[in-house]
Amino acid sequence: MINITEIADMDRRTVLHPFTYLKNYAAGETDPTIVETGKGVRIRDASGREYLDGFAGLYCVNVGYGRTEVAEAIARQAYKLAYYHSYAAHTTEELARLSDRLVRMAPGKMSKVFYGLSGSDANETQAKIVWYYNNLRGKAHKKKIISRERGYHGCSVVSGSMTGLSFYHDHMDLPVSGILRTGVPHFYRGAVPGETEEAFSQRRADELEALILAEGPDTVGAFIAEPVLGTGGITPPPAGYWPKIQAVLKKYDILLIADEVVCGFGRTGATFGSDLYGMNPDLITVAKGLTSAYVPMSAAIVSQKVYEVMEEATSRVGSFSHGYTYSGHPIGAAAANAVLDIVERENLAGQSAIRGAYLMQRLKAEFEQNPIVGEVRGVGMLAAIEFVSDRDTRASFDPGLKVGARISQAARNRNLIARAMPHGDILGFAPPLVMTEAEIDEMVAIARAAVDEVLRELD
Ligand code: PLP
Repeated sequence: MINITEIADMDRRTVLHPFTYLKNYAAGETDPTIVETGKGVRIRDASGREYLDGFAGLYCVNVGYGRTEVAEAIARQAYKLAYYHSYAAHTTEELARLSDRLVRMAPGKMSKVFYGLSGSDANETQAKIVWYYNNLRGKAHKKKIISRERGYHGCSVVSGSMTGLSFYHDHMDLPVSGILRTGVPHFYRGAVPGETEEAFSQRRADELEALILAEGPDTVGAFIAEPVLGTGGITPPPAGYWPKIQAVLKKYDILLIADEVVCGFGRTGATFGSDLYGMNPDLITVAKGLTSAYVPMSAAIVSQKVYEVMEEATSRVGSFSHGYTYSGHPIGAAAANAVLDIVERENLAGQSAIRGAYLMQRLKAEFEQNPIVGEVRGVGMLAAIEFVSDRDTRASFDPGLKVGARISQAARNRNLIARAMPHGDILGFAPPLVMTEAEIDEMVAIARAAVDEVLRELD
């Protein structure tokens, strides 16, 4: 067996890591964390150090680490049939069962499920389905897709263009044309003095309508959004936001793509974020919680309304010409079924609502009066603390101070993983949905010590 130093050297020489300062890593200024095992809400690295994972990996290991029943389901399927494709109506029992349950679980009137490997590729599929649908309906110009500032939908070519965070575009020739942007529904940051949440939501809906009218409603095909804004800052929508937005979309025959990659399967305290906010999507994107990341799998769930147009066109256009080698991979399907069995049996959506309320109560108690905390927000097992240099003016810190990153690092030094969200000074929490109240207490206490440490440094 090779030792830790050899693994680190090999990694440094050969792995191109996402979101890593390449030169610093290559020069040995930063070290890899060699993750070895995981159990429940904790991971352990090769040196034996254990971390409380307050972000469930990348908000995906919803059922927690080390669930043997998922590992066994994966192994059973691997022994029985490790792979076959799903082209030309090939299927497996696991795939048919998974699709049946997803269509029944999902909000609205869903009809079919198309599978991919990541949230990014599933959103890429959604864009193609929007274009296909409108071509088949004879609306060849109705193609633009509206997304939101600070929305996150992935980092491939079209999904990365839909993402409303500029550092995903810089130096990479994104966004591509045909992707429009509308305002982020963050009340704390966007409201004018004296404005109510309802009035702010109405203003956002009015802006959306103005954009659609300026572009021409016949040129706008879809609106994509996360029920709760995730990577852009873990920001639940203000009161009235979704009904008002949906009224505009309906008026102009614009499809709603609900990106449930983070929210889906219990994260918000409901099965889907769309359930919580009364959304009625035409297309739903899921990934992460679908398999709790035990194996890669994503899906684009297609409503009856959209599917009917696709089916009806068969004699004119032939087969649906879109698919990946690994679409509907049997091991992914087996993992998803085992994970969704746990989600249902342990009522993880309901648990997430209860434990999420406890988490919010604890975070508010510890942080709401803190001199550098502007807002404590969240829903279900999704929460964030936004740091400000001045609570009255809500002024942000100088980005050069890297306050969010330092607090996240101070937490990590105390063996807690809480994510410095990439936009602004925001500390994010999205633990496995199985985290207990005692573990929440431990997480919040460490976060408190980390914030206090950075607060002392800033004084
Ligand atoms: N959509 C949302 C809402 C996400 O949060 C993410 C990833 O964080 C994605 C899409 C992209 O998923 P992936 O990283 O699997 O491509």
